[in-house]
Amino acid sequence: MKAFYAAEQKRHNPKAFLSSGAPQPNPEQPERVERLFAGARAAGCEILRPRDHGLGPIAAVHTPEYLDFLEHIHARWQRIAEASEEVIPNIHPLARGGRYPASAVGQAGYHMADTACPISGETWESVRWSACSAVDAVDAVRAGDRAAYALCRPPGHHAFADVAGGFCFVNNSAVAAQRFLCDAARVVILDIDLHHGNGTQGIFYQRADVLTISIHADPVRFYPFFWGHADERGEGAGLGYNLNLPLERKSGDAEFLAALDAAFRRIRAYAPDALVVALGLDAFEGDPFGGLSVSTPGFSRIGEAIAGLGLPTAIVQEGGYLCDALSDNLTAFLSGFAVAA
Ligand SMILES: [Zn+2]
Repeated sequence: MKAFYAAEQKRHNPKAFLSSGAPQPNPEQPERVERLFAGARAAGCEILRPRDHGLGPIAAVHTPEYLDFLEHIHARWQRIAEASEEVIPNIHPLARGGRYPASAVGQAGYHMADTACPISGETWESVRWSACSAVDAVDAVRAGDRAAYALCRPPGHHAFADVAGGFCFVNNSAVAAQRFLCDAARVVILDIDLHHGNGTQGIFYQRADVLTISIHADPVRFYPFFWGHADERGEGAGLGYNLNLPLERKSGDAEFLAALDAAFRRIRAYAPDALVVALGLDAFEGDPFGGLSVSTPGFSRIGEAIAGLGLPTAIVQEGGYLCDALSDNLTAFLSGFAVAA
């Protein structure tokens, strides 16, 4: 299987992070790349540098003012006297849709959902190339490959059309789905990250051409809290095209595979032309977030089951944090997928 990754993706090195109000090291570390790289290699992937696709595929799912913000906010922030090194918001609009602020501080609050996605001088290049990796994985599949893997880092599924959040800036899975629509009529995004894919849901909530499905730890007491509940089904033309399958905390392989079966019934009824797997590995029992209890062999079975759908598939990396088994979990998923593909 081809895998896509550009060295620029490692430059983003976030420092700030608040957990329950306490400053902690940011878990979305560049070292994740080494582990994921090793995992992809061990699964037999051929790792290729993506082409530079410019802004087009990203602008297809994000607003122009947001992309302008991501590209330029760090330089503007540095002109504020005594500002922090990283861009971190300290005020948010209660409701969106009001006046768009002119100030850098106002725009940071407008475009950033939380303190988990600080922006440094390196962030934009990493984010842009992460999206290019997703685009090239899709293009490999459009050109005839059965599946391809995008080593996307920074991840993307918490990013809305104009809001960053939860380590995410550009929604790589959404970029991938939109790219498939160049020559597909219906695409499904199956998000198996520990956390609900709230940004992905938000981007496609009123659309029927992309079915969004997310299996995740129940957000009633877990990030992202405000989204990911089972009664969120889409709106307008998108009503019925969003499916959330929250799991009780610490659910293991059996519960995860049962949720996957429910997802597959919905996918088969939708009869999509292509599939994007938003592959988080943080549902692992040893992940620092500790929300679910999927095992390493469990990831292999999940990969095998998803391959059984028989769809052209782009696998887009989302979460999965530093722990001893991070490489092995990626290898398990990709190898399991390859067995059944
Ligand atoms: Zn996650």
